[in-house]
Amino acid sequence: LTETRKLIAGIDTKISLPNGKYLPVINFDNAATTPPFLPVLEEIMNFSPWYASVHRGTGYKSQVSSNIYENARSMIADFVGADLKHDTIIFLKNTTEAINKLSNRLLNTYKDGVILSSFMEHHSNDLPWRNKYTVDYIDINQEGKLSLEDLEAKLLHYKGRVQLVAVTGASNVTGYMNPINQIAEIAHRHGAKILVDGAQLVPHAPINMKPPNDPQHIDFLVFSGHKMYAPFGTGVLIGPKEIFQKGSPDYTGGGTVEIVTHDTVKWADPPLKEEAGTPNVMGVLAIVTAIKTLKNLGMEDIEIYERKLMEYALSRLKDIDDLIFYGDAFNSKDRVSIIPFNILGMSHDMVATIFAQEAAIAVRNGCFCAQPYIQRLLNISAEEIKNRIEDPSLPHPGVVRISFGLYNSFDEIDQLIKLLSKISKNKKAYLSKYRHLSF
Ligand code: PMP
Repeated sequence: LTETRKLIAGIDTKISLPNGKYLPVINFDNAATTPPFLPVLEEIMNFSPWYASVHRGTGYKSQVSSNIYENARSMIADFVGADLKHDTIIFLKNTTEAINKLSNRLLNTYKDGVILSSFMEHHSNDLPWRNKYTVDYIDINQEGKLSLEDLEAKLLHYKGRVQLVAVTGASNVTGYMNPINQIAEIAHRHGAKILVDGAQLVPHAPINMKPPNDPQHIDFLVFSGHKMYAPFGTGVLIGPKEIFQKGSPDYTGGGTVEIVTHDTVKWADPPLKEEAGTPNVMGVLAIVTAIKTLKNLGMEDIEIYERKLMEYALSRLKDIDDLIFYGDAFNSKDRVSIIPFNILGMSHDMVATIFAQEAAIAVRNGCFCAQPYIQRLLNISAEEIKNRIEDPSLPHPGVVRISFGLYNSFDEIDQLIKLLSKISKNKKAYLSKYRHLSF
């Protein structure tokens, strides 16, 4: 752990708190974004002598940067089990942009089809599908997990019209991992393809897209660099080349074409066709360096370690009075290390603020861009969630979320538990001190 922590930028940052303490920041908000690896930042510095635009010049620097950019695709393919003979790897800004692009580009093929999203999706894997396709949502069960029975039922109901099942690899609210290869098999049996939103899965567990002829093959995969220890600004979209060979790209301009006259255009082959404008070569270098570092640490070991952190935290949280948990709260199986909870009688906003101001512990609170899922987990109606978001005099719906990264320690969890026990035992005093945040 000591060695792993040395890989993280800003691990030693301390801050002065309103209570006079000067403490190291504890980051339990890794589902929002992870701090960059130092080797990633170093690699960006090492690249600076070769700084040049890719694909555009015969100059030596441009050749170097083009090689870095193009070689990244095979490294990424290797990391997630994609097959570059069949798939293309497109670099974009983030997961959200990747899903938006896919929703635009599939219009050529799937225009009259049905897209199945689910009740547990981030808004980024829900909104881009709306108003373009018929969208339906796979239900979740009592525990908040995706219902495979409902998936089958919906696929049967639409009688072969479902073109794409768009599901998350792991939930950003509960951490539940979906059985994506099994879902792929079910989808394929009904003539549909599968998109996996890998934003929360790819940094925390091994993933294998499997060969294209395997019934469990993942057709499309998207993820963001900033959740896997690279800086903001780079996302990845992987999918069959043939999908992107059809039609025009959604963004056009420099880099997307082979031939342009005033009345004809011949598009370049994907992925270049889909990467309009000057590409983000440093962002791509960052993502592949993060992948190299993750591979050195071992994705299996990362998954095991983070699960231990979650199990330890759950075992300690269990003993604290007045905590409210959601779904299959104490089961750590098939789950990345995310824990949602509330404290009875305290707003999630107040809890998160107390963590920050009393102990420099960073967590996230609210609905995490997953309002329909929060609505179901909190067992409130769509009407109520709407009213509570719109009316500032009502308590805002939401939960507190702790999410671990590969560098978090058991000692950091102990500090969180210590503070939570204190809050639970002295609730009245905290409610009074932070009353401006109460409801
Ligand atoms: N999907 C999931 C499951 C996420 O957690 C997130 C980020 N919170 C996104 C999509 C969107 O990622 P980005 O903001 O990097 O586009």
